[in-house]
Amino acid sequence: MTGDRIAAPGTAEQVWTPWLTAQDWPAWVPDPSWTRVAVCAAHPDDEVLGAGGVLALLAGAGVPVHLVAATDGEGSHPGSVALPAAELAAARVAETVAALAELGVPARVTRLRLPDSGLAGCEGELTERLAAAVAGCDAVLAPWTGDAHPDHEAVGRAAVAAGAAAGVPVWQYPVWAWHWATPEDPRVPWHTAHRVDLPPAVRAAKRAAVARFVTQVQPLGPAPADRAVLPAGVLAHFDRDLEVLFR
Ligand SMILES: [Zn+2]
Repeated sequence: MTGDRIAAPGTAEQVWTPWLTAQDWPAWVPDPSWTRVAVCAAHPDDEVLGAGGVLALLAGAGVPVHLVAATDGEGSHPGSVALPAAELAAARVAETVAALAELGVPARVTRLRLPDSGLAGCEGELTERLAAAVAGCDAVLAPWTGDAHPDHEAVGRAAVAAGAAAGVPVWQYPVWAWHWATPEDPRVPWHTAHRVDLPPAVRAAKRAAVARFVTQVQPLGPAPADRAVLPAGVLAHFDRDLEVLFR
């Protein structure tokens, strides 16, 4: 079960740091001649955790960003006693707006409002709607197809299909892989990795953006079902001076 990999204890950031520093992957940099890049997300926060630095660099290069959000994230706290799902979704959508502002990204946002935790069950519709968003883009960013979260993988697969049909390159960003994988993990396509170096100001902006996802980085309440989805050990993976894209 892929879900078990996310629930299980993860790899400490201290294990990743020296290994990542030693990799000589090619660098990814935005092309200022691009006229539009689409970033696909399964849940509000995926795009910032996995590619917030990339988005800030694109904005800095003057490249317009189009966020295509598959769900509103109503499923992050099943059984919550603190917040009904509809209110949680509204809060998460607002958190995304605030986070993009922290990154200096004036993104156009399209919300598909597909079911959180149910994207693999509507992958055909997801692919069709991503195809419409991807048309005319110079590049697409999407969650990695092997991330071990079923929603992330579904958006990744749909984006890869949409990108292939439109002839647009798709760059995949890992999120949960930093938790369940280990350096040299054979399940991860390291041979396709590119590094995105984040200048100090971009790293600081990303840190501020991640903090905007209050419903995810803090408990909703004292009940076990309301615990923080992203505890400190997981968040540490997203406070680096680099991001990684697979292609
Ligand atoms: Zn997610």
